[in-house]
Amino acid sequence: MNDFIFEPVKGKTKPYVESLRQLLKNIRHPFAAGDKVGIKLHWGERGNKGFLPPDYAQEIAAWLMNCGAKPFIFDTTVLYSGGRRTAEDSLKTAAAHGYTTDFLGCPLVIADGMDGRNVISIPAGYKHFKTVQVGNVFDMAQGFVIFSHFKGHMVSLFGGAVKNISMGFASRAQKQRMHSDYHPVLEKKKCSRCGVCAEICPTKAATISEPDYPVYDLKKCIGCAQCIAMCPELALQIFWNSDMTVFQEKLIETAAAVWKKIKDKVIVINSLINITVECDCLPGKNPLIGPDYGFIGGYHPVAVDAESLKVTGPGIFEKVHPGIPWQRQFSYAHEIGF
Ligand code: SF4
Ligand code: SF4
Repeated sequence: MNDFIFEPVKGKTKPYVESLRQLLKNIRHPFAAGDKVGIKLHWGERGNKGFLPPDYAQEIAAWLMNCGAKPFIFDTTVLYSGGRRTAEDSLKTAAAHGYTTDFLGCPLVIADGMDGRNVISIPAGYKHFKTVQVGNVFDMAQGFVIFSHFKGHMVSLFGGAVKNISMGFASRAQKQRMHSDYHPVLEKKKCSRCGVCAEICPTKAATISEPDYPVYDLKKCIGCAQCIAMCPELALQIFWNSDMTVFQEKLIETAAAVWKKIKDKVIVINSLINITVECDCLPGKNPLIGPDYGFIGGYHPVAVDAESLKVTGPGIFEKVHPGIPWQRQFSYAHEIGF
């Protein structure tokens, strides 16, 4: 089902809850009274300013309750140091960003569990992954709403519904498997030796001892790219250990495996609002690169992402993230029947 609903926000004021309400009114949905429905979203890294405010999640939760469903909101823990590496920290970050049960009217859940062990391997059967490991949210829900912030991303060009399902459902181990194809390379003449990279590296792969430049132990590096994203001097570049398309394919394989599990009862909504250079995983400055367009609702993540890209045009992302073979996401999804 590749039809869409586009609900523009033109002329309206933020938060654009009214537009989202209109979209929800018009979307066909598969949820039945009594269904538990998980709303997958990203509540933003601690210190991030571009994440979507909780008003939209509140609206979706209220709409689901009105349909007789029982919503909950969920995310998984991440590889990065910061405010979402542990479940406890992630829930604190959510609360600091306004995502509380009181405000949302429904519970918040960390899908991979409070100890990161609530994970499950599901069949994939593709060339990179025969199985993928994800947070075990499937026993908790009969249906899903994939609600994604459409914005830029340093290795996938953009992040939308596919990325929300792929990285978003993945366990930390699976995230690591997807990220294992690149590492940082230092451009010494730009480096101020500030030590930020060593401070934030989650595996202690980056170290610095004065007066030297930082060094990166590639045996310990998990390719999380946090140092590259956080370097204030842009002194770190991505070095791909393999063909750059491999990451795009791994992203698609993980999403495709999850999709097989959830596709019968799901709707997909991309929010083309606060379109920032980088994803909401990064704290700090994250400039806007486009206007607010609105919400796109549909029934397949690849189709909703493609439609979102049509609205924004890929150029706004290619300008800030040149050279990423993002087209491979779509051609590979087609090849594997996703
Ligand atoms: S964060 Fe950047 S500028 Fe600072 S020490 Fe690391 S590479 Fe150098
Ligand atoms: S050195 Fe590797 S593990 Fe450490 S922050 Fe950079 S990419 Fe991540």
